[in-house]
Amino acid sequence: MSQAIATTGTPKDEIVRCDACPVLCRIRPGKAGACDRYANVDGVLTRVDPLVVTERAAQGAGVVPFLSGAEGWDGNVAAPPPATFVTGVGAGTTYPDYKPAPFIVSSVHDGVDMVTVVTEGIFSYCGVKVKIDTDRHLGPEQAAVRVNGEAIGHVTTAEYGSQMLSLGGVHHLTGGSKKEGTVTCDAMLTLCNKGAVTMQIDGGAEVVVQAGKAPIVNGTPEERMRVGCGSATIGIFAKQWLGHADEVIVVDDHITGVLTEHQAGRFLDMPLSGIRVRGRKSTPGRYFQVAEPGLGWGGTNISDPLEIIKSIDPKTAWPGLRLLMVSTTGEHSGWYVLDDQLKPQPAEMPAPIRLVVDRIAENCEPSLCTVMFMAGAGGSLRAGVTENPVRLTLSVKDRLTRVTSGGAPVYVWPGGGITYMVDVTRMPDNSFGYVPTPALVAPIEFTMSREDYALLGGHMDYVIQLEEVLRGERLSRQSWRDDNPWPIARPAGETS
Ligand code: SF4
Repeated sequence: MSQAIATTGTPKDEIVRCDACPVLCRIRPGKAGACDRYANVDGVLTRVDPLVVTERAAQGAGVVPFLSGAEGWDGNVAAPPPATFVTGVGAGTTYPDYKPAPFIVSSVHDGVDMVTVVTEGIFSYCGVKVKIDTDRHLGPEQAAVRVNGEAIGHVTTAEYGSQMLSLGGVHHLTGGSKKEGTVTCDAMLTLCNKGAVTMQIDGGAEVVVQAGKAPIVNGTPEERMRVGCGSATIGIFAKQWLGHADEVIVVDDHITGVLTEHQAGRFLDMPLSGIRVRGRKSTPGRYFQVAEPGLGWGGTNISDPLEIIKSIDPKTAWPGLRLLMVSTTGEHSGWYVLDDQLKPQPAEMPAPIRLVVDRIAENCEPSLCTVMFMAGAGGSLRAGVTENPVRLTLSVKDRLTRVTSGGAPVYVWPGGGITYMVDVTRMPDNSFGYVPTPALVAPIEFTMSREDYALLGGHMDYVIQLEEVLRGERLSRQSWRDDNPWPIARPAGETS
């Protein structure tokens, strides 16, 4: 059973020592330790939070269809019992690591004896990858991301329609000042527990990040993720503009698109407009660096789109030429008609053009923040699972052992170790804790067949039945999230 709930027989009024992490708190009666996860309850060291067990309605537990006939019905009106998975949330930790994990649970699924090793890992090596769906310039690549003035990470390479932050990691947790480590740990803990954190980016914006919510950039909530880059937007909507506009320029910080030059316009036999934009030409109709990055049109710093027009060729353009300028989210748009001096003059946008601008916006997905917790479980934590840790690593690589975090599926990186990532929104609320070393505490479960567990040198003497766990008093029974795969199925690759 749990290694952390020990120290029985201690008089009720005596201090107990917590040995669940290297801090080794001495806890007075009725008080909690430094991490608030353990307390001295009547002289017994107690994990404060309940153990989270999740229950999924048994397969085939649906209602018997009316008038479907009695065949196949065994006369038992009771629904089959739910399938139960014990998560690491509230399980407790073990320290030093050679002790078996707090719960090593045996259960039978689909006729196969399975074992789930359940613990809360203490992760000194961990970080948070944040994806922020916005084109707005949050800050230059490599710029420090700060909370209360302390660097907790940096801006990393942008992805398609999203800005990326890399936060935490062992250097910020342990390699700087004590305050830097504490602030970093606190920010990661809040983010992983689905809370909001306000960050300042050197040379960039202030952004509020919360998993599953829209980012707030300099006080303004972001609404839409761009439909694509400027070139992609041209490609998607070119045909819908044909006959209604003579030129369309999609303003984008990365790739600005110019319809009549673009391959899409060439395919549609559109005559060139003679309008040239600033920046560096990549390929026909695709321009880089038309402006500086910023919080304006298409992630540039411009508020007047005509600023990016470099020249209008009088030999090619003509008075009355109809020009649409639009951003990649449809948030910004302008309609212009060239006058007799070939100068763009604002005009009322025709209905067919407005329809397509609105369609760009309609095709944008909501802007969200994604928080992925990333940690290394390939170190000493493995000793709580097996006496021969490398076998656990190999078993995970061979997909004989399934790794989950609070029941949520994880992505295990190829290569050495068990370095995994998990989307925190798929985990139970408040799954994470911390210890002041500083490090984050996260639930982790390893599930495999009992046979494989024995083969990898598991702590077989500590295996307990699921029913024994469920008789415990400090349980929080929660419903299984149906969008998470059920972890106690026979892992892919297992043949025996
Ligand atoms: S910080 Fe928490 S886990 Fe570590 S010794 Fe203190 S009470 Fe126990």
